[in-house]
Amino acid sequence: MLRLDKLVKTYKTGDQALKAVELDIPNGQVLALIGPSGAGKSTLIRCINRLVEPTSGEVWLGDTELTRLSPSRLRRERRRMGMIFQEYALVERLTVMENVLSGRLGYVGFWQSLTRRFPQKDVDEAFRLLDRVGLLHMADKRADELSGGQRQRVGICRALIQDPAVLLVDEPTASLDPKTSRQIMRLICELCAERGLAAIINIHDVALAQMFVQRVIGLRLGAVVYDGPPDGLTPDK
Ligand code: ADP
Ligand code: ADP
Repeated sequence: MLRLDKLVKTYKTGDQALKAVELDIPNGQVLALIGPSGAGKSTLIRCINRLVEPTSGEVWLGDTELTRLSPSRLRRERRRMGMIFQEYALVERLTVMENVLSGRLGYVGFWQSLTRRFPQKDVDEAFRLLDRVGLLHMADKRADELSGGQRQRVGICRALIQDPAVLLVDEPTASLDPKTSRQIMRLICELCAERGLAAIINIHDVALAQMFVQRVIGLRLGAVVYDGPPDGLTPDK
């Protein structure tokens, strides 16, 4: 479903952040991206949603190639990529429900989600998602009243209400305690399996990746140095 073909990113500074990366992720598969700081993990994720422009190579989402799309086509394709962030990126003064619904708008100013009316089917879907992640009773709470784990659950619902084809997940547990981290990883993996979503999770905690994913990509100096099951990893990878 998501395929990277000879993806290269060389920054203006001369840093070769990605060197001809090849990657194929089928629907329903969650892939953990690991590697030391500077390996190219965030560059890889950002080349997929084109927050960073790849230098060469191709990114295929289904049968659409993303690297040469016009800005308007790109906006549409980005709606098919659910983003989940380390710091949640919720709007603190909005409710849980409003934060989830904001996923239907793309990332626009929060005033729009306050004033814009949502179709009932979006509201129903938001309730379903909140129920699935165990936050139905929190729908009317403000985001700033939530714990870190609850915030990340809201972030997950906000990504899923877009009905994405792929999830791009950047260090989802870096701000969470170990127990909550395991719950969040389990939840993301279960939801991807249920919905047939491909996902890339940029994660520095190798042990956590080993617990939940079937496939790990090790990046080092912009190249894939490992692609396989988590138990084949040696400690220095
Ligand atoms: P990781 O996410 O694995 O820590 P990054 O993708 O952030 O790795 O960085 C990969 C390489 O690209 C590093 O050498 C980093 O210094 C370089 N790099 C990242 N972003 C930029 C940038 N905006 N300009 C120049 N070099 C960058
Ligand atoms: P992280 O390790 O959490 O991904 P970094 O500290 O590597 O974050 O990067 C923070 C920001 O600085 C990012 O936007 C990244 O693209 C940019 N950056 C990283 N390395 C460089 C670099 N060598 N030159 C310019 N910008 C960089």
